[in-house]
Amino acid sequence: MKQNKNSNMKFAVVLILVAVGILGAVVIFSNKQETLPTEIKKIDVTVQPSLGEKDAPVTVVEFGDFKCPSCKAWGEMIYPQLVDEYVETGKVKFSFVNVLFHGKESTLGSIAAESVFKRNPGVYWDFHQALFDAQPTENHDAQWLTPERILEIAGGLPEIDQTLLKEDMEQEATMDNVKIDEDLVREAGVSMTPTIVINGKMMEDPFDYEAIKTVIEQEIKDKN
Ligand code: CA
Repeated sequence: MKQNKNSNMKFAVVLILVAVGILGAVVIFSNKQETLPTEIKKIDVTVQPSLGEKDAPVTVVEFGDFKCPSCKAWGEMIYPQLVDEYVETGKVKFSFVNVLFHGKESTLGSIAAESVFKRNPGVYWDFHQALFDAQPTENHDAQWLTPERILEIAGGLPEIDQTLLKEDMEQEATMDNVKIDEDLVREAGVSMTPTIVINGKMMEDPFDYEAIKTVIEQEIKDKN
């Protein structure tokens, strides 16, 4: 009889442990559900460089900075999949907005990129890529985005007139466009780079490609 009582006790303890386990799983699961994207106003990308079909049903905006290591990583880890799967299939238009969280170098890189976009839109994305490629993998806080280095990078793209690019950087000729980007950053409440916004939905984790896919697929479904 005593033994029976003991095993009943054991059974009860096991039951409680199982219940706690289930409860824990539910809490974790509902926490996961909470990382849904934040709804913000749709980003106006009219004057932004855009890749893909003009009338694609979904617009993905990257708020990024040529000086930011995570943006370089995003460009290597997430961007190629996104382009293959969604931009080249006409489902997504991809736009880039400059963020100036790393001070003078961010500003200079943005002015240069806006200049290339204005004068040679056809090579903008190549220049954009070349700037990220040139970002050092180590000691990235040290100064590297200088006018000399930018001209050197531009030298790899014969379409770019280096004299005009140099003048644009010296005169901050495309500052108005950089200011437009700064306004978008403020309005959207961007606080980190990269920030990814899909049809006005700001992603919690820019590196969660599965979550990005889910939102894109949902947006495509909603449009049909
Ligand atoms: Ca811009």
